[in-house]
Amino acid sequence: MKYMSTRGNVKGINFQDAVLMGLADDGGLLVPEEIPFMSIKEIKALKDKGYQEVALIIMKKYISDIDEATLEEIVFKSYKTFEDEKVIPVIKLGNFYLSELFHGPTYAFKDIALQFLGNLFEYILDQRNDYLNIIGATSGDTGSAAIYGVRGKKGIKIFILHPRGRVSRMQELQMTTVLDDNVFNIAIAGTFDDCQYIVKEIFSDVEFKRKYNLGSINSINWARVLAQIVYYFYSYFQTDEADSMSKVNFVVPTGNFGNILAGFYAKKMGLPVNKLIIATNENNILYRFIKKGDYSIRNVVETYSPSMDIQIASNFERFLFYLFEGDSNWVVKSMKQLKNEKKINFSDELMKKVREIFDATSTSNERNLEVIKEIYDKYKYIVDPHTACGIDAVLKLKNFYNEAFIAMSTAHPAKFIDSVVKAIGAKPEVPNGLKELENKEKRVYELEASVSLVKKFIEKNL
Ligand SMILES: *Cc1c(COP(=O)(O)O)cnc(C)c1O
Repeated sequence: MKYMSTRGNVKGINFQDAVLMGLADDGGLLVPEEIPFMSIKEIKALKDKGYQEVALIIMKKYISDIDEATLEEIVFKSYKTFEDEKVIPVIKLGNFYLSELFHGPTYAFKDIALQFLGNLFEYILDQRNDYLNIIGATSGDTGSAAIYGVRGKKGIKIFILHPRGRVSRMQELQMTTVLDDNVFNIAIAGTFDDCQYIVKEIFSDVEFKRKYNLGSINSINWARVLAQIVYYFYSYFQTDEADSMSKVNFVVPTGNFGNILAGFYAKKMGLPVNKLIIATNENNILYRFIKKGDYSIRNVVETYSPSMDIQIASNFERFLFYLFEGDSNWVVKSMKQLKNEKKINFSDELMKKVREIFDATSTSNERNLEVIKEIYDKYKYIVDPHTACGIDAVLKLKNFYNEAFIAMSTAHPAKFIDSVVKAIGAKPEVPNGLKELENKEKRVYELEASVSLVKKFIEKNL
């Protein structure tokens, strides 16, 4: 399988090079040159297979430059760190399914991709006798999942900037208690925007970037999307619908459009999916897009589901590429319009195509807490605020569709204790992996919000 850019000026790239490239050199996103299609018979054969086996079968279709035994090793190593032997268990709550994607080391779904990406980076760099320095800014979940993905790995150093005192206590502990030599937590005296600005400035210094082999681990890396395709198949086979290969609707709490994009690939590959339902919070550009064709950027507002407080969904460009039937000129035009006018216009004809695939909801802050309480009262089961946006979508849309619903649960409720307590007046059970963090040794470097100071810090530690 070869990869190309959504903007058309990068073509014929191998998987390994696509992984190292991250963002395509022409500013676009890398996509496979074709999407492998699986017959119903081939898909059926995945039933009763373990998570790792399903992963191997799906991933092999997209990777032709890593031999099977090596890929198998990487896959098994990546999911050994999960607490549940199924990796991703699916439970039933009343009349819908919930796919628990949060059993990895940092208790959020990002582990599924970042555990894999960390091992993949290590393998590729080792083959090439090369090294990589990862720089990233985080408002919480991504930073910890990235750190756990690459801690202790040969050839990789990671520098993660977070706004000092502005991430949740649990998220801060998850990052700062990792003491491996290759991990550098930098607490910036400033906001998340300051952190992001500093990282952007560092990356735009091309000389600095080349000199130190800087790389990023953000959600546009193709390997992250690929790892996420797997659990759409695996979740499906844990439902009763799989017996008759009936269609299902997937509900996905959405921010950067990475998770649901993987569902889009699964559908394209032949998995019996009816609708992909985009669950948003009050940052609802994707909801406005689906319902009214209004893809216009507004200001980001703070909600109880911070990992979805995003207006520019970076993976959306990949979907556009398919919507425009692979016409890169249209992608370039649209992204230009987005940059200049803060919106993209879509024809009625295109919106019809979009709505054949997607539906969407938007959940207010108030409703978010209500849903957590409703689910707790009814099933004695606690969901986190991100997952609750998804369950709100199930409750709002269940009657409009005949197919079963699978909602994606993206984080463990103990990561967002304050919101949960606000909703139900009780604390969720805290898993041992989080409980023990309080007593662990911590290491964090405190810096002023200054590009040159952060650069100096990086140089000193390479
Ligand atoms: C990152 C994240 C999301 C959003 O996922 P995207 O792939 O960015 O759409 C939802 N919930 C949680 C808990 C997350 O960490």
